[in-house]
Formats: sequence, structure tokens, C-alpha cells
Amino acid sequence: MVRPVIYTNPYSFSPFATGYDTPGFYFPEYSEPVQSPQSENPAKTLGLAALLQGIALFLNKASKWCSYKLQQGKEFTSAENVNKVASEMVKKNNLDVKVGFVDAANKADFVRNYGGAAEFEAVAKGENAFFSSASKLAVAPKSRPSLILHELGHAVNATKGKFMRFLQNSRGYATAAPTVLLLLSSLLPKKQGENQNFIQKNAGILGFAAYLPTIIEEGIASLRGIKAAKNVLGKTANLAPLKRNYLFALCTYILAGIGLGVAAKETIIRES
Ligand SMILES: [Zn+2]
Repeated sequence: MVRPVIYTNPYSFSPFATGYDTPGFYFPEYSEPVQSPQSENPAKTLGLAALLQGIALFLNKASKWCSYKLQQGKEFTSAENVNKVASEMVKKNNLDVKVGFVDAANKADFVRNYGGAAEFEAVAKGENAFFSSASKLAVAPKSRPSLILHELGHAVNATKGKFMRFLQNSRGYATAAPTVLLLLSSLLPKKQGENQNFIQKNAGILGFAAYLPTIIEEGIASLRGIKAAKNVLGKTANLAPLKRNYLFALCTYILAGIGLGVAAKETIIRES
């Protein structure tokens, strides 16, 4: 799950959530000197920049709301049933992955075995769940066991070939999109008679596109979890709360993608 980050200010790339797959992966601080915008129409540019800042703030709020709804979400079945589904997912897909449910009482054991005190602290508090292919571990809060099915969905994705692995790993690079687009844009000529090149024109959609693989992979992970629950528990299970929770989780990723598009646009505007 690992909550995505929305960049309200592209000058301060904060660490990309906590470490799904790449524990402790930090993006370099983006610290270009602030330059006064040298556009043909400074007033218009400033207006657009302010608008984008406003949108970023709104996205951030919306994302927090989705996270809150996810945290408040109900469990769709008993912990015992979730365990049954999780075991079946591991068995059926031959996963070499340990499954853990973390609470205040056992978090120290996890930290001792795997490191990452902050990560397990968040899981123990019910604020996060994650799968780490490096540690071959999927964990969810003991208070929210159903999140494990989504994490095992990631674990299954990791076994499904190169394309899936690409989707999964792209998140490590996606957040560099504003910087990369800025660099590419400086290399790209403008067409005659136009004052914007292709990247300057499409920075928003290109920034979002960089995050799309992550959104898709998140969605697939959830679908795998839901499908496994349906297969193992059959018609008696009410999957609606599970689907609802996973939808709120996906919502945070979609908002983060839009946020990345906004950040890319803002960076391009400021620098050109
Ligand atoms: Zn996830």
C-alpha cells in the first residue's frame, strides 16, 4: 500500500513515502536557485503558477481524505478468514514470501529481523502495509489484516514477468519526472513560430504518464487480492468493504499521479 506523496512544492522533493521495494530510497533534494520568471507575459505565468499551487494543495487534501477513509474502513471478514486467503495466495502462486501481522506487541521482533523501525511502527499503528521483495516479506497491521491481500497481490505481480516488474519498479523513478522533463525540455528545440516546445506544452500529461504504471500495478495488486478472497471464501463473503477500502487506496495513487503532473507543469513554467 505505502501511501504516495503529493508534491505541493516541487522544490522540496520529500522522501518517496516509506520503502516499498526500496527501503530508504530518497530522491535528491531539488535545489535549483530560484530565478525570476522570464516569460513574455509574467503576470499570466504567475497566475498559472499560483493556480497550480492551489490545485496541488487541493490534491493533497483529497489524498488525506482518501487515506482517512481507508483507515476508517471496515474489515470484510474475520482475521482467521483473511489468513486462510493469504495462505492460499502464497501456496497457489508458489510465493517465497513470509506473511506478517504487526502490532505494538510484536513490532520489535520484525525490526530485529528486517530493520526499518519507522516502517514497522507505521504498520503497527494501522497506518501502513507493505510488501518488500528484498526482504521477501508482506506485512499488514494486525488491526487491519485484510490489507495483506493487496500486498500479496504485489508479491504475485513480482513473479509475473518482465513487464510486470517494470510496472512495479517504475515508481522508483516516476517522481523524478519534473526534473527529467525539465532537462529534456532544455534540449528540445521549439518549432518555428511557437514559443513552447512539445514538453513545455504537455508537461502535465507527461508527468501523470510517468506515474501511470504505478497506478496500474496498484490496481492489479488489489484485483488479485479481491479475486483470491472470492475464490477461497466463496459466495458467503461480503467483499464490498474490501473493494471499498482498496478503491480508497487506489484513489490516493491516482491523486498522486495528478499531483506529479501538476508538479511537472509547475516546474516547466517556472524555469522557462
Ligand atoms: Zn500497493
